[in-house]
Amino acid sequence: MTVYLVGAGPGDPGLITARGLALIHTAEVLVYDRLAAPELVAEAPEGCELIYAGKGPSNHAMSQDEINACLVEHGATGRRVVRLKGGDPFVFGRGSEEAEALRGAGVEYEVVPGITSAVAVPAYAGIPVTHRGLATHFTVVTGHEDPTKGRDETDWESLARAGGTLVILMGVGGLPEIVQRLIAGGRSADTPVAVINRGTTTAQGVVSATLGTIVEDAADVRPPAITVVGPVAGLRDVIAWAERRPLHGVTVGVTRARTQASDLVRRLRDLGAGVVEAPVIRIEAIAGPPIDPEDYDLVCLTSPNAPALLLDRIGGDARRLAGVDVAAIGPGTAAAIRAIGILPDVVAERAVAEGLLDALGTRVAGRRVLVARAEEARDTLPDGLHAAGATRVDVVPLYRTVAEVPPGPDALAADLVTFTSSSTVRFFATAFAGRELGAVRGVSIGPVTSATMRDLGIPIVAEATRHDIDGVVEAVIDAAGSA
Ligand code: SAH
Repeated sequence: MTVYLVGAGPGDPGLITARGLALIHTAEVLVYDRLAAPELVAEAPEGCELIYAGKGPSNHAMSQDEINACLVEHGATGRRVVRLKGGDPFVFGRGSEEAEALRGAGVEYEVVPGITSAVAVPAYAGIPVTHRGLATHFTVVTGHEDPTKGRDETDWESLARAGGTLVILMGVGGLPEIVQRLIAGGRSADTPVAVINRGTTTAQGVVSATLGTIVEDAADVRPPAITVVGPVAGLRDVIAWAERRPLHGVTVGVTRARTQASDLVRRLRDLGAGVVEAPVIRIEAIAGPPIDPEDYDLVCLTSPNAPALLLDRIGGDARRLAGVDVAAIGPGTAAAIRAIGILPDVVAERAVAEGLLDALGTRVAGRRVLVARAEEARDTLPDGLHAAGATRVDVVPLYRTVAEVPPGPDALAADLVTFTSSSTVRFFATAFAGRELGAVRGVSIGPVTSATMRDLGIPIVAEATRHDIDGVVEAVIDAAGSA
């Protein structure tokens, strides 16, 4: 089988290539670096062996020889191996050394280029590496931060004379000497410079200065960082965009089940947030006898989990619901109903049982109603349906929520934590029993969830006015703005 040398992109997990992500999804062994986004490592399928190869400037979990040997060994067993490397594997990535080792051992390999930090990190700081009238070329050069490298072989004075944009990787430790030599080589002390730490990630930090002042201004910057030298660095004042996104620099914990979280996670990331996925629950289908839609005139679905599970229970054929009215408790459930090929007849405006009863109005009297929902739910809806004159109300539990493996403590440290149901609140409180929940800044999807939060002592900093994912995202933006 093949070893794939895959570029992970510069940090933002969205910046991996489509091919790279597809390979991660089918990997049997994933060997990854410190610079590969953790979100991408999390994309590996269940059962995939994860091997951390380390690689910081001074903490190598494995030496390059050990990494090479590891790739050869796993590649030779015939497993699908993905070697995930920060940025592009062939830009200061030692991917070519790994390729040589694999070639030498007769193991097949392929290279999947990635977006290199050398270009993408400046771009996220609002700095184009070329710009008409300011730079006709750019040079990517190593600052030899790696202490094992020893002597600096770069002719900085010549680079200074060549002009253009200099993009210096691994240059944090050597910055004072580099700056001195560039000035000695003739670059003006007024030349704009930017040092960008953890670019493209939510922790991106940028120091803007000039060649004359950068050493002092960037004294506290730690690797990984990129230094951009040249007039283009001055364009940041105009072009900077990443920091202007509404949730830039905000970390948000997402507690909902992994299978349901993707939409919320993507929306938050698109707004610049760092997302800590901390699923506290998992949806477990409840096996039960088939349901015959002919027994009912109206089906009420009270969560986005319900429609697909109901479809399973009626034999997978949505046409069997043709003669039945289908009602959704809110827009999220309505979307899930449409996803199984049915247009809901009734959608509640307020996504609570009372809202659904209002929306149903006179459609209930004299009718046979199926309520398909979670095992643990309030009786407000069935009681209300009886009160409204239903001749029959059957409550069928389609699924239950169960505890997920407890999330790591990062979720507690997030700037905001979203709760999209009472069960996420309860399971969160259980997962972190004994920890200080009073310091959590919670964002609630609506009043029912908020009530549970109050009961369990989780502070609410914002409550959604629309009780769906759009509403939660808006509430997160509000809460972040008022932080
Ligand atoms: N193959 C990688 C580079 C590996 S060398 C690529 O193509 O991007 C490691 C150096 O890359 C770091 O020391 C730093 O200078 C730079 N770097 C990588 N990711 C970075 C990031 N997100 N922010 C700032 N610098 C980064």
